[in-house]
Amino acid sequence: MTDTFPAMLIRDKDHLQAELTTLKRSDLPDLPVLVRVDYSSVNYKDGLAVSGKGRIARRFPMVPGIDVAGTVVESASPLFAPGDKVIANGNGLSETEWGAFSTYQRLKPEWLMRQPDNLTQKQAMAIGTAGYTAALCVNQLMAWGTIAPGEGSVLVTGAAGGVGSYAIALLAALGFNVTASTGRPETHDYLASLGARAFIDRRELSEPGRPLQEERWTGAVDSVGSTTLANVLAQTVYGGAVAACGLAGGPDLPTTVMPHILRSVTLIGVDSVMAAPRRREAAWRLLANTLTAGHMESVTAGEIALADLPGAANDIFAGKVRGRLVVKVA
Ligand code: NDP
Repeated sequence: MTDTFPAMLIRDKDHLQAELTTLKRSDLPDLPVLVRVDYSSVNYKDGLAVSGKGRIARRFPMVPGIDVAGTVVESASPLFAPGDKVIANGNGLSETEWGAFSTYQRLKPEWLMRQPDNLTQKQAMAIGTAGYTAALCVNQLMAWGTIAPGEGSVLVTGAAGGVGSYAIALLAALGFNVTASTGRPETHDYLASLGARAFIDRRELSEPGRPLQEERWTGAVDSVGSTTLANVLAQTVYGGAVAACGLAGGPDLPTTVMPHILRSVTLIGVDSVMAAPRRREAAWRLLANTLTAGHMESVTAGEIALADLPGAANDIFAGKVRGRLVVKVA
């Protein structure tokens, strides 16, 4: 490896915008596994961190980036050897631990998973945290046991985003009848190609509604939160469940207990960052066994370099990115 290499760095709490810089090998944290970061991706959270619009970093200086696909260069852990292909996401990367937007990074072995055999590094990052979170949601809904392929409709909100796109692809490939809620009608063909069978305009869900509404969804994956999630809960069938993972529409939840106490509706909270290894592995297994190369290709919006990250963050907030941006790091 070279002794100096490019990385994005957030300098301190008064300079939250990440800048392209050059790091030295000795700048990296003292952790057991040295990884060359081959690919990463741009999640909503990365947009917040890189632009400084959200206080993601809690320690400074900080290298942002929550998704790593890399190759082990050196390992003081018996679990990994040089040449191993690994992936990592969450576990405090970009918050309290240095993350993916650096050509080399040192990581703890317990944050690393072997790259699934049937995925390339680029495909793993086209999936990234968004796809992995969608898979956590789908696994949770299926474990809850009230949705079944071919029975009723499952709703996906924030459909044209990263989590939404993969939730649709997974649910449709598993045989569920998927309805997509999106604010971008121009994405209908794309969402239909992923498997969505019906569409609703996201404005239908964004105005406050009655606590109990017509029962429409056997289950839902929600990455929007706020009034949207309140309406989704109010429209979920008796005994149904909603997996909520995001707040693209806001962090509040203006709802009542009515769907829960009168229709036995369950709200399942899904966090990807600290998810137990058993859940992580099950999610990646679902992704590797269910998605096709065509899915990953359709969802990938493009490939960018480290230097393009600030512009990509702005595009995410402007709602210009459909699906996922992959970052070629090394
Ligand atoms: P994206 O930016 O790719 O997608 C978000 C989508 O939400 C947009 O494409 C849009 O869908 C919809 N949306 C955006 N703004 C609004 C709004 N004001 N009202 C209603 N809908 C809106 O983000 P990701 O898919 O990567 O992430 C989605 C959410 O999930 C984020 O809040 C993110 O922080 C969260 N998340 C949480 C994780 C966890 O561990 N719990 C892990 C990963 C993500 P459309 O254009 O179709 O209308």
